[in-house]
Amino acid sequence: LSDKLDKALHVLKGHGSITEVNVAETLKEVRRALLDADVNFKTAKEFTNTVKEKALGQNVLTTLQPGQLMVKLVKDELTELMGGETAGINLSGTPTVILMSGLQGSGKTTFSGKLANYLKTKKAKKPLLVACDIYRPAAINQLHVVGDQIGVEVYSEPENKNPVQIAQNAIAHAKQNGFNVVIVDTAGRLAIDEAMMTEIANVHKAINPQETLFVVDAMTGQDAVNTAKTFNERLNFDGIVLTKLDGDTRGGAAISIKSVVDKPIKFIGTGEKMDAIDVFHPARMADRILGMGDVVSLVERAQEQFDEEEARKIQKKIAKNQFGFDDFLNQIQQVKKMGSMKDLVGMIPGAGKALKDVDIDDDAFKGIEAIIHSMTPTERTQPSVINGSRKKRIASGSGTSVQQVNQLLKQFDQMSKMMKMMQGGGGRKMMQAMGK
Ligand code: GDP
Ligand code: MG
Repeated sequence: LSDKLDKALHVLKGHGSITEVNVAETLKEVRRALLDADVNFKTAKEFTNTVKEKALGQNVLTTLQPGQLMVKLVKDELTELMGGETAGINLSGTPTVILMSGLQGSGKTTFSGKLANYLKTKKAKKPLLVACDIYRPAAINQLHVVGDQIGVEVYSEPENKNPVQIAQNAIAHAKQNGFNVVIVDTAGRLAIDEAMMTEIANVHKAINPQETLFVVDAMTGQDAVNTAKTFNERLNFDGIVLTKLDGDTRGGAAISIKSVVDKPIKFIGTGEKMDAIDVFHPARMADRILGMGDVVSLVERAQEQFDEEEARKIQKKIAKNQFGFDDFLNQIQQVKKMGSMKDLVGMIPGAGKALKDVDIDDDAFKGIEAIIHSMTPTERTQPSVINGSRKKRIASGSGTSVQQVNQLLKQFDQMSKMMKMMQGGGGRKMMQAMGK
C-alpha cells in the first residue's frame, strides 16, 4: 500500500532528506536553547555544527517525521557530549580514598555526606568522613552533624592546622578500624586563590586518592567552567559532581564543563537532604535540557500546523465519497502554510523514500491552485460534470492549457480512488499522520 501511496502522491516531488533550510532554522533555535541553558557559546556552536552535518547526511526514515528525527539527532548528540555512558566511581584500594575539591559553598560537605550515605546503603561500604576544612570550626561541626544524620563516623582533629597530616592520620585510622572508604572533605575559598590550590594539591599528592571529585554548583553557569578548568589543571581530577540541580536549574553547565575539561560527570546533587544524590545519566540530562528549552516544541511546531480537526473532517468526507477540489485546495494550502515543498514532502510517511530522487518544484502547486480557482462550486464538488467545454473555460480562466486541466483531473481522480481504498487500513493512519 505504501508504494501505491507514494505513486498517488507523485504531485509531491522532492528530496528524501531534511533540507538545509529546515536544519538551519531548527538549529538556530537549538543553539538559543543551549545558550539559555547556560552552555557556553563555543560549545553550543560546535554542537549545532555537528548536528547539522549529521542531519544533512541522513535520509528521512519512512516511519519518522523529520521533526522527530531532528529531536533524536539533537538528543543523541547532547548525550554524547555529556559523556554518552554513565561513568562509574572507582572503588578500588584498601581503603578507597575519595578527595573532594571545589569552591566554598559548592556543596562539598553536603555531598561528602550524601556519598557516604550512598556507599553505605547502596554499596554496602563502611565509609569514614574526614574533616580537612581547618579554617572554620563551624565546618568541622557541620560534617559531624552530617555524619550523625547518616550514622557515619567523622574523623577530625580540631587542634591540628595541617590538612595533609589530618588526611594521612585519617587513612591510618581507617585501616586500623576496618573502614573501606575514606571521604576527605576539604576547605574551599569563595574564589580561586593560590593558597587554596597549593593546599589541595598537597593533600592530593600526599594521599594519592582513587577518586578526586570536583564539586561544582550547577547554578553558577559559565563561572563553573572556568573554575573546573583551573582545578583540573592542578589536580587532574577524575570526575565531576554537579550540585544544586534541583529546582529549575537548567544544567547547561554539565555540557560546558564536560566539553572543556573532558572529565565525566559522575554524580548530581538534587537537594539539601542526604538522599538527594543521583548517579549522572547523560541521556536523562539531555532530556532535561531539551525538555526545559523550547527545542522539542520547536521542531514539533511544523507538524502542528496541520490542523487535526481539518484532517478528521477530510477523513469523513473521503469515507462518504465527498472529497472534492475545495478540500484538495484546502489541503494544498495547509501544506503551503508549513513552508517549502522540499521540506514538507519528507513529512509524509512513505513518501520520502520513494520520491527522494525526484526533483521538486515549489511552483508545482501554483498551476493547480489556479485551475481549481477557475472551477465553479459545482465543478469542485462534482468533478464528473467537467466536460470538454468546461475544460476549455477553466484552462483559459486559469492561464493554463486543457492538457494541464486534464492532467489535474486525472491525478485528482486517481488520488480520490486511492484515498477511498485506503480508508480501511493504512490510509487512516496516513491521514492521521498528516493530521499531526
Ligand atoms: P561547601 O562549602 O562546598 O562544603 O558547601 P556546603 O556543603 O556547605 O553547601 C553549601 C550550601 O549549599 C548549603 O546550604 C547546602 O545545604 C546547599 N547545598 C548543597 N548541595 C545542594 C543541592 O544539591 N541542592 C540544594 N538545593 N542545596 C544544596
Ligand atoms: Mg564545606
